[in-house]
Amino acid sequence: MKPNKNYKELKESYLFSEIAKRVAKFSEENPEKQIIRMGIGDVTLPLCDAVVTAMKQASEDMGRAETFHGYGPEQGYDFLREKIKDYYAENGISLDFNEIFISDGAKSDVGNILDLFDKDNTVLIPDPVYPVYVDTNLMDGRKIVFLNANEANGFLPMPDYGVSADIIYLCSPNNPTGAVYDREQLKEWVDYAIKNEAVILFDAAYESFIDDKSLPRSIFEIKGAEKCAIEFCSLSKTAGFTGTRCGYTVVPSELEFDGFSLNKMWLRRQTTKFNGVSYVVQKGAEAVFTKEGRKQIKENIAYYRKNAEIITSTLDELNIWYTGGKNSPYVWMRCPDNMNSWEFFDKLLTEIGVVGTPGAGFGENGKEFFRLTAFSTNEKTAEAMDRLRTLF
Ligand code: PLP
Repeated sequence: MKPNKNYKELKESYLFSEIAKRVAKFSEENPEKQIIRMGIGDVTLPLCDAVVTAMKQASEDMGRAETFHGYGPEQGYDFLREKIKDYYAENGISLDFNEIFISDGAKSDVGNILDLFDKDNTVLIPDPVYPVYVDTNLMDGRKIVFLNANEANGFLPMPDYGVSADIIYLCSPNNPTGAVYDREQLKEWVDYAIKNEAVILFDAAYESFIDDKSLPRSIFEIKGAEKCAIEFCSLSKTAGFTGTRCGYTVVPSELEFDGFSLNKMWLRRQTTKFNGVSYVVQKGAEAVFTKEGRKQIKENIAYYRKNAEIITSTLDELNIWYTGGKNSPYVWMRCPDNMNSWEFFDKLLTEIGVVGTPGAGFGENGKEFFRLTAFSTNEKTAEAMDRLRTLF
């Protein structure tokens, strides 16, 4: 047996273990200090009532012979796909049923989609970035070209026609930077992809945090995207499904390369390697899209948005440069006083007991930046920002 030697190319992910190690050491030495965690990418609010009620009912269904469900359709139940179709229609996007695939979350599909692409393709990935895009391509041995996201371009890099790529990753609202592409910028990306006969893998996991109506929540709001893009969505941050697991992927039927339909290939891939998301979870997901569910998740998102506002208003006051926080749960700040991201991490931890995420963990271009998240409680966020004020 010859193992996949590409795994050698993966860098050990020290980020969260190193954070945990430093926090544990500090807590041990300073047991009286209360630590506030502003680095977590996980939600803290529980599932909303509409979802819990639907999942309870679905569990009852599973316990009765007449309503029991065994294997479901690999691409998801129609009751959920229908709701998603309607959700897109609200933004003027007309999808066909068979273009919507229910998943157990965006992470798996973002990785699994690579089954459809030759290993010889060149991949364009922004730096800094959600590490899954890089690692899944390294596992396959694909050539990666990094796109420079930086302070000068507001962490929203644009296409460079001097660089040719086959697969392009875009994430908007972005993790880690919180930056959001506008329509004109996405149009440029769509034009570039079509010209290069490339595919855009668009990660819209944070679309529900977009408040500004002028900003696109889906790449399919852009004309031409149906010819070059696949979109990944998740209920993880939208509805607190991080531990419940449900998302969806849109693969347009118009996507065709060398006579191969990506939609048909994805269906074939899913029906071969995936047995669908559980009935109970899909029932919970369906409830997210009902009137009551929508109202309830909106309240939760508003709660996180308030945290983002507390963070950004503090940074404004302290005159610290940042992106995000407006239509995103992430705030990406420049480390003050020319500190690098780990120096800043240590300063916050040891002097005020606040934990964030060093930008270095997301790529070279993150080394002087720091990620704060809006997923804590309002009280803790306000307290963390009060402490920050005492430092700067
Ligand atoms: N995409 C991005 C950009 C993320 O930040 C995350 C989670 O943090 C995911 C996808 C994963 O989402 P899911 O929980 O649906 O797998």
